[in-house]
Amino acid sequence: MSRTTWILGNWKQNHRNEAAVECAKGIAEGLEAATANPAQGCPQLRVGVAPTYLALNATAPFARSHSELWLLAQDVAAQESGAFTGEVGVAMLRDAGVEAAIVGHSERRAYYGDTNGLVADKVANALEHGLTVVLCVGESLSARDAGEHESTVISQLSESLARVDSKAIDERLVIAYEPVWAIGTGRTATPEQARDMHRAIRAHLAETYGDTGRDRSILYGGSVKPGNAAELIAAGDIDGFLVGGASLQADSFLAIVTAAAQTARPS
Ligand code: PEP
Repeated sequence: MSRTTWILGNWKQNHRNEAAVECAKGIAEGLEAATANPAQGCPQLRVGVAPTYLALNATAPFARSHSELWLLAQDVAAQESGAFTGEVGVAMLRDAGVEAAIVGHSERRAYYGDTNGLVADKVANALEHGLTVVLCVGESLSARDAGEHESTVISQLSESLARVDSKAIDERLVIAYEPVWAIGTGRTATPEQARDMHRAIRAHLAETYGDTGRDRSILYGGSVKPGNAAELIAAGDIDGFLVGGASLQADSFLAIVTAAAQTARPS
């Protein structure tokens, strides 16, 4: 089957309103050209950016009217509404034009106490209320060095999906494999390391959820740049990218989109 390719930018705590608008506008305006000459067999491409909560309203017009640019949130509350100071719920995000949320990013797990249990609540709530979820998983360097990278990621995955059943695992669930040692470090996983982990994730999803699980898009994240995007896609089983640093400039982000569109997938 031909799984959707996603190229998503995570702006983290960067880009105040003016810079966010400039970047979103640049991406929206360049998107048509960036996807104009897809490689034969290139699957449907979906491009999105995740500004800070406060820049969502300012960037939403570019997502809505200029193109097919998706607007994402960098996180989402585990509850729909109520006395949860500092949290932002699914309905609020949807009001702002948000279609998807990143959940379980390693920075949230490392600095803000997002355990697998909390991530599971966020995933279940977001899916139940109609948001697409980009669920992040990834091992630390010590887990990789100990040869425990696969078991670490698979247990993160199964615990983070503990509160959803196979009915909820539909096209609104996207997985992002992001080895912690590759995020913001300039050190990318080799195409083979990324592909092998994606295969392990896919096998686990297929075993747990059947065909629907097997058919999920699995993205790679960790120091993706215009210069390494094509070789990662060409490795196979990599359905796009979650991009941090290189998504902060429209030009470099669009170059990654172009590379993903123009690189043939192995059969
Ligand atoms: C990320 O934070 O999701 C990420 C992949 O960052 P970077 O591309 O900067 O490594």
